[in-house]
Amino acid sequence: MPTLNATHDPQRRSWVASANAEHTDFPIQNLPYGRFRRAGEARWRLGVAIGDQVLDLAGAHAAGMPVHASLAGEDLADFMALDPRLHHQTRATLSEALTEGSTWAPALAACLLPQSEATMGLPCTIGGYTDFFTGIHHAREASRLFRPDAPLTPNYKHVPIAYHGRTSSIVPSGTPVRRPLGQFSTDGVTPAFGPSQRLDYELEVGVFVGRGNALGEPVPIAQAGEHWFGLVLLNDWSARDVQLWESQPLGPFLAKNFATSISPWVVTREALAPFRLAAPVRADGDPAPLPHLHDAADAQAGGIDLTLEVWLQTPQMAESERLMQSHFRDAAYWTVAQMVAHHTSNGCNLQVGDLLGTGTQSGPASNQGGCLLELTAGGAKPVHLANGEQRRFLDDGDRVVLRGYCEGPSARRIGFGDSEGRVLSARS
Ligand code: MN
Repeated sequence: MPTLNATHDPQRRSWVASANAEHTDFPIQNLPYGRFRRAGEARWRLGVAIGDQVLDLAGAHAAGMPVHASLAGEDLADFMALDPRLHHQTRATLSEALTEGSTWAPALAACLLPQSEATMGLPCTIGGYTDFFTGIHHAREASRLFRPDAPLTPNYKHVPIAYHGRTSSIVPSGTPVRRPLGQFSTDGVTPAFGPSQRLDYELEVGVFVGRGNALGEPVPIAQAGEHWFGLVLLNDWSARDVQLWESQPLGPFLAKNFATSISPWVVTREALAPFRLAAPVRADGDPAPLPHLHDAADAQAGGIDLTLEVWLQTPQMAESERLMQSHFRDAAYWTVAQMVAHHTSNGCNLQVGDLLGTGTQSGPASNQGGCLLELTAGGAKPVHLANGEQRRFLDDGDRVVLRGYCEGPSARRIGFGDSEGRVLSARS
C-alpha cells in the first residue's frame, strides 16, 4: 500500500501557475500519465498533466531530467511494467522538478504544452479487457429490471463476477460513439434489426494493470495491490434492447463491444494514497470472502474515496447538466485487489496494460443510478432535465461526460479529467 510522502503534501505548489488553481483536476499532488500527439506530429508522446498543461516527457528526458528512458517512448505500458519502486522514484523526481523554486523550471517550461493543443490517445496498447460487476446497487437494480423474480444472484457475494470484453473498440475520451445497429425484440420472441432504441452509458472506474503474472501463477490477494498501476474513468456504452435479447444465456456481446470510452489520464496508485480507506463493511448476514479474496491489509485500506459523476449535454443545452453522483467507496462490493486476485486465481495471466472495468458504480439511492436504465427504471420514468427536455435513453447528439475526483480534509483535491463522448446517429 503506498504511503504518504512529500509528493502528497497539500501545501506543495508548482511553478506551473494553473496547477495551483483551486478547482484544477491536476495539481502537483496528482501527476497522472497520458499519451498525446503534438499537432503535425505522427509519433505518440508520453506526458504528465500539470494544471492545464502537459509536460512532454520525451522532451524532459532529452533536457536531461533523470526519468526512466521508457518515458521517452511511445507506450506507457513500458513504464507501467516496471517495479513500483521506480514509479515511486519517478513521481518524487517529477514532483520536485515541478515544485515552486525548482532549478528545473526553465528547462521544463520549454517542455510544456497546453492540454488544449494536445490530442490525447489511449495511454498504452491494451491487450486484454475484462469488465467486472462490482457495483452492488447496480447489480441489484439492473438484475431486478432484467429478471424481476431474482434480484441478486446467490453467487454475487462470493464471486467478483466479470466477463471478457473487447479491446479493439476501447477509445479515448472525445471519440464520437455511433449508435449501433443490432438485433432486439419487443415481445421477446420476434426479432428486428436496426438502430438501438435504448442506448445507454455506464459509469465505471477503469483499472490499468501494471506488472502482470505468469500463466498458471495466481497473484495472491496480499500482493494484488502491487499489480495495478492506476485508474481512469470508463464509460461502458450499452445498447439495452440488444443486451436483453442477446444475453440469454451468455453474457454481453454486441450490446457492449461497439465502444468503450476511457478518460485519457491514468491517476496512479500512489497519487490515490491519501484517499484510501477501509473496504466497505459487509452487512450482517453477508458471507465472509473466501480465503483467496481476503487480506487484512486490503480490508483495512482497499477502498478508495472517489466521487463519481455523470453529466449530460443534449444538442439543445449550452452546458452539460449533472445527472447523478455516487461514491466508489460504498458502490463497489469488491476492492481492486480482490478483482486482480480473483482474475488470476485460476492461473489466468494478466499482462501489463490490461484494462479492468469495475462495473457500473451506482449509489444506494434511486437518484444515484450510474446508467439511464436505473435512473429511468428501465425507461418507465423519464429523467427530467432543467430545460424541460426528458430522456429515457440517449438521443443522437447527446454528449455524456463522466467526472471523478478525490478530496479530503488533509489532502489536496485531485481529479481525473473528463471522459466524454457524443452520440452519432446510426448508419442507415
Ligand atoms: Mn459494464
